[in-house]
Amino acid sequence: MSDPGLDAYAAQLRNGEISAVQLAQDSLTRARQQQDAYNLFVNLADEQAVQQAQVADAAIQQGDTSILAGIPYVAKDIFCSKDLATTCASKMLANFVAPYDATALARIKEKGGVLIGKTNMDEFAMGSSSEQSHYGAVANPWQLDHVAGGSSGGSAVAVATGLVPYALGTDTGGSVRQPAAFCGVCGLKPTYGRISRYGMVAYASSLDQAGVFARRATDLAVVLEALCGIDARDSTSADRPVPNWSAQLGGDDGLKAMALGLVVEFMEQLDDDMRAVLQQAIDVLVQRGARIVEVQLPQLRHAIACYYTLALAEASSNLARYDGVCYGYRVEDATDLQDMYVRSRSEGFGDEVKRRILLGTYVLTAGYYDAYYRRAQQVRRLIRDDFMRAFSQVDLLVGPVTPRPAFVKQEKPDVIEMYKQDIYTVPANLAGLPAMSVPIGFVDDLPVGMQLLANHFDEAHLLRAAHAYQQMTDWHTKMPPTQH
Ligand code: GLN
Repeated sequence: MSDPGLDAYAAQLRNGEISAVQLAQDSLTRARQQQDAYNLFVNLADEQAVQQAQVADAAIQQGDTSILAGIPYVAKDIFCSKDLATTCASKMLANFVAPYDATALARIKEKGGVLIGKTNMDEFAMGSSSEQSHYGAVANPWQLDHVAGGSSGGSAVAVATGLVPYALGTDTGGSVRQPAAFCGVCGLKPTYGRISRYGMVAYASSLDQAGVFARRATDLAVVLEALCGIDARDSTSADRPVPNWSAQLGGDDGLKAMALGLVVEFMEQLDDDMRAVLQQAIDVLVQRGARIVEVQLPQLRHAIACYYTLALAEASSNLARYDGVCYGYRVEDATDLQDMYVRSRSEGFGDEVKRRILLGTYVLTAGYYDAYYRRAQQVRRLIRDDFMRAFSQVDLLVGPVTPRPAFVKQEKPDVIEMYKQDIYTVPANLAGLPAMSVPIGFVDDLPVGMQLLANHFDEAHLLRAAHAYQQMTDWHTKMPPTQH
């Protein structure tokens, strides 16, 4: 199957070539085949998908103009979905069915989008490989013994294989951009607060932000327009107008007058093969009129330590709610309340989640709070200041997404090594900035991404640069070899 974008789907639905119900049924059939190969789903929305598609078919017949109407999509299993389990890939939530839809899903539903299933991920979004799942690891469609990236691995795979034109994920420290890079698709995390976090299972609330996977910048723009905007149910959602990004992608003048900051430290650290691919992509942006300015962000060398202090502190607090009392896993034969708490949490959480709760609790204890947590908050501010200085000179920053392409699945991953590989993605979350990953080629027969970062609420520049790049190149159209 070729890989149509949103426009092509919308046209087929409107000229009667296919109905939304047929499309949903075809997608569900393909999803089942893909599940055997890649383990990308936690659960499929069989009944709900067909029902939503029926509603969409009726709306299209009555002239519904939303481009998303009737088009299938998938969402990471971290977004609460009414009447459909939300597990966060944890035994703790294996039987949890939310009584409401997350705002992100509700907004897509309003536009007539059809949710096909909930995708596999690292448990509670803690990881970079989608291996730390109660439901087993997700495979990379380019090389099945490699990881898909994480934590939103299943969503990235669904777009890479052409199962759906777009998918939702979340990005606390790179979980949209990194799997997008590993699977060869675009992934965009907007500014913190652009998309409501209501109904998104919390990992680290000051860093968590929903994001979108798609092949094309044009499709990302359309989906973001539907998702973004203030929500009374999330006090950190941003009260900012949502631009008509699709109309601002830019025409033939390309990137004239755009100043592109090249992060010197990032380029210097890269292996030659990765740097060569990135340099070629930057050359394309320059051909389209962008001007390169070298910038330095010295505080970024502290980003990993800062992120893994703050994210884990917030996680330890957020995950305290899983105590076996109101919802989630509870042991059956508890001898008393304490025993129920301890064993429900010990049995319900996986190893990586427990490690993070322990570390996060440690940095928040009275004796260590000042040494670790408060210090990390101060460093976070310095990192933000570095970015603000850079954005007083340039419109965009450009750099790698990851040090290397996808790695081989491991029985016992070296977690510290894995944390370190998040070096290029966590800074955007610490500073609350919008950032995206764009596929730019291959190293070792695996996809590689370029990262673009913009100032707060300036997603327009990201989308324009990505669109200008995609008009000159065809990396975003490449499909993995094994297809279903
Ligand atoms: N890999 C990072 C972590 O493990 C980021 C995860 C995420 O963005 N959800 O925390």
